[in-house]
Amino acid sequence: ARATGYQPPRDAFGLWQEQPELVYLDSAASCQVPEPVLQRYLQYYRRQHANVHRGGYPLAQQATQLLEQSRERLAHWIGTDAEHLVFTAGATHSLNLLATGLTIDWQAGDEIVVSRAEHHANFLPWQRLAERHQLKLRWLDLDPLTGGLPATWPELIGPRCKLLAVTMASNVTGQIFPVAELCRQAAAQGAVSIIDAAQAVSSVTLDVAALQCDALTFSAHKMYGVTGCGVLYLSDRIQQQLQPALLGGGMVAQVSEAQSQWLTGVHKYEAGTPNTAAIVACAEAAEWLTEQRQKGLSDYLDGLTRWLVDELGQRSWIQLLPRQAPALPVLSFFSPEVHAYDLASFLAEQGIAVRAGSHCAQPLLQHWQHEAVVRVSLAAYTTRADCERLLAALDQAYQLFADA
Ligand code: PMP
Repeated sequence: ARATGYQPPRDAFGLWQEQPELVYLDSAASCQVPEPVLQRYLQYYRRQHANVHRGGYPLAQQATQLLEQSRERLAHWIGTDAEHLVFTAGATHSLNLLATGLTIDWQAGDEIVVSRAEHHANFLPWQRLAERHQLKLRWLDLDPLTGGLPATWPELIGPRCKLLAVTMASNVTGQIFPVAELCRQAAAQGAVSIIDAAQAVSSVTLDVAALQCDALTFSAHKMYGVTGCGVLYLSDRIQQQLQPALLGGGMVAQVSEAQSQWLTGVHKYEAGTPNTAAIVACAEAAEWLTEQRQKGLSDYLDGLTRWLVDELGQRSWIQLLPRQAPALPVLSFFSPEVHAYDLASFLAEQGIAVRAGSHCAQPLLQHWQHEAVVRVSLAAYTTRADCERLLAALDQAYQLFADA
């Protein structure tokens, strides 16, 4: 893990100045925020804050400009342009906007294809849609040995499929899925394709043009930004099929008693005052992440994760949920002997932050007959020493609980 020369930039995170002993292995839930991103957020509120799109005075014009520059920067960052990028409150918000606003000529028996690894945010909105229109939900299952999709997956995206909604990577196992191929198969059947990149965004360089998806979304707080900001890419095609789910200020061209007209383009999907500070900070976070990637972040995390997987594999009382390359620096395990919640609370007492539970992916856990697993996730600030502390504490926990 050290051969790449990447140095985890701990100094950029105030948390470790206050709590130098903290081992934070829950970045899949939310990443810690580096100082340049925080500074950008504060600078906005200190010097640049006003409501956007409304005021004609310089401060408001500048805030509007900052918002639109952030749109351009983030659009560029994911391989598109500003006309295709909508700001939301997060991935959950984006996916609900899509499920609520999409106008598809549904016939009873049409199919929505999801993977077994969906986060509830990319499953529940489609489940409700399926109930409303008598659609069939079809599952792309995971191979229980490799954790990847079985070779037969293309058969599941057939002529009745009108919508594909898949995660780019599992937030439980870390498995990355072949989303470009999935979208191509969906397009061949005339179906709309939606990608949930919430978990993948911090590890995978996104390029929506290469993916050929219709929509893709992620949340800023999982890519070293702050909470309350999401990014939603919308292709030209899906914009024609998508009604604004929220109505209000900032999205209308003209309102009258009899009828009203929406703005054209992405602004019609952004009713209400946006979280401009979080959006500006998100653009800063994208830049910070790109710099870290240029310094070798991806190889560093791949190496560290592989080493951790090996170490866990040497402990016969621990079983890793299946994953194969390519995968995120996110992994989950369980022990037939020690309950996941006992492990996580023991680790918490040792100052090690991990998560136990179903990780908002109950369809996957139920399918594999687990109630709860322990998830460990690494990020730019994770050191080998953090992982060593985890392993030592797990060994201690095993002694304590398995002998009890
Ligand atoms: N999808 C995936 C794969 C996720 O990991 C998460 C967050 N755990 C979400 C969607 C939802 O993101 P948010 O809570 O920021 O809306």
